[in-house]
Amino acid sequence: MSFIVAIDGPAGSGKGTITKLVGEKLNLINIDTGATFRCVALNMIQENIKIYEKEKITKMLNRINIEIKENGDIFLNGNEVSKRIRENDVNDFVSPISTVQVIREKLLDIQRKIAEGKDVIMEGRDIGTVVFPNANVKIYLDASAEERAKRRIKQNQEKSIESSYEDVLANIIDRDKRDSSRVIAPLKKADDAIYIDSTNMTIEEVTEQIIKIIKEKQG
Ligand code: C5P
Repeated sequence: MSFIVAIDGPAGSGKGTITKLVGEKLNLINIDTGATFRCVALNMIQENIKIYEKEKITKMLNRINIEIKENGDIFLNGNEVSKRIRENDVNDFVSPISTVQVIREKLLDIQRKIAEGKDVIMEGRDIGTVVFPNANVKIYLDASAEERAKRRIKQNQEKSIESSYEDVLANIIDRDKRDSSRVIAPLKKADDAIYIDSTNMTIEEVTEQIIKIIKEKQG
């Protein structure tokens, strides 16, 4: 039987960094579901498909091939797009397209298949509520919008992506609003998830706390 850790939370809450570290320490496969939504957004940008063009979206989804390699590299239709999917045009388009039902259904299917039979730590917005409601461990990771914007800027600098604090903060606030107010699979804490506010915590502190919670569950 597989062991599933679900980590949900808003943009920039540290999910990506922490999921990777915890996964490495506890030998859990790390699955970033946001990257799968980003791949769909990028594919639509590349093919100039608009959000209301349902038939074109369905055809694109039938052809799409998203791969998450063991080292975390993301491939879209055979091309490496790990950095490309973090750029501004994708940032602005990803939240709107994640409200489209056919896209969520297709990605739900892909996400569950990737995890099948494996021990995973999966991060996103609806993992504990929709993708794996029976996950063994559920964490909801949060932080203030300002702190999350600062973290995103630092991450972007490390990846040589240019961004201003004002733009990043505006994008984070806008995505929070859209992600938590959408009708299908909104961003929300599962009733049985453990809430962690990481605003004043270091990465090490959050990682340690989550490892402790998982180890307790593993027995
Ligand atoms: O995690 P990340 O910021 O890369 O996610 C990008 C976007 O993908 C989110 O803002 C959200 O709109 C969407 N998403 C989602 N459900 C998930 C993961 C991401 O709707 N499980």
